[in-house]
Amino acid sequence: MNTEPSILEVKDLKIHFDTFEGTAQVLDGCSFTLGRGDTLGLVGETGCGKSITAKAILGLLPVPPTRIVSGEIRFHSRDLLDLSEKDLEKIRGNQIAMIFQDPMTYLNPVFSIENQMIDVIRGHARHANKTVSRGAAREKAISLLNAVNIPNPRQRIGDFPHEFSGGMRQRVLIAMALAGDPEILIADEPTTALDVTIQAQILRLIGELVERFRHSVLLISHDLGVVAAVCRRIAVMYAGNIVELTTIERIFENPAHPYTRGLLRSIPNLARRKENLVGITGSIPDFIEPPRGCRFHPRCAHRMDVCQKVKPVLADIESEHRVACFLYESSWPSASRPEERIKPLP
Ligand code: SF4
Repeated sequence: MNTEPSILEVKDLKIHFDTFEGTAQVLDGCSFTLGRGDTLGLVGETGCGKSITAKAILGLLPVPPTRIVSGEIRFHSRDLLDLSEKDLEKIRGNQIAMIFQDPMTYLNPVFSIENQMIDVIRGHARHANKTVSRGAAREKAISLLNAVNIPNPRQRIGDFPHEFSGGMRQRVLIAMALAGDPEILIADEPTTALDVTIQAQILRLIGELVERFRHSVLLISHDLGVVAAVCRRIAVMYAGNIVELTTIERIFENPAHPYTRGLLRSIPNLARRKENLVGITGSIPDFIEPPRGCRFHPRCAHRMDVCQKVKPVLADIESEHRVACFLYESSWPSASRPEERIKPLP
């Protein structure tokens, strides 16, 4: 799907959580790729496995109770799941960095931004077997704050987190994520804690940084609008599976999976003000005893017998458009031609 070769490839990743009630099968064979300069949004309801996927890439899942049951996470062909914690530390922050969602949780309130950024910059250098003086790290921190549009960075760098607004704190976190010059930025709900106007500024900033530095971005969000503002491609997740993977244009103009269609119908639309919003009936399944076959089948108006027995796999239904749904499986007698099935939403 990408014109550029993949630098990150997640292959059939399965993750389980051991709980007192039983084993929760939280990720059920997730696969996608990310190319250089590519921007992919992972979208889905809370609990669908988006953040688990991101944390697995960075080796940040607690073990136990988490178990990676099978799959691969290949970064430049090396499987990150085979690396030691020491080797992962060299990649984390330096080559793959994460922007977290709540700056107040990730910034230490008792240290100035200057001290925290200098620590991060020198820490990344250490992991890359380099030495950076405190003065050089301070200059780099100032230039990073400048890159994320913090006004008067030379004066503001000595301030503490509480002296910055919420939007400014998120910019500081983005600057810290850029400190190791990473190839891949993973942004986990980076605007959830912000009000709408600040959210737009942060999304614009991430978009500008992608253009300027050619980072690859994996953006995690429950909000299709947020993903559309930054990403070229989108992967829709449901209950631990990617059910549709395509371009942003296609997802809005020609959604194929019944879950994606349901999601889009449940978003308020000014052009359809007189219509009632249509929700998706039912709720997300129990991960300890998930439904057999397609995990969406208890909520799907189109389910067939096969959906309750066999798990559909992601398959191409047209160029740059993959869907995991038997409606598009031409070998099933009840399925019609994809081009007849994929109709724009009314
Ligand atoms: Fe619905 Fe079957 Fe498609 Fe699942 S595979 S979304 S149950 S039609």
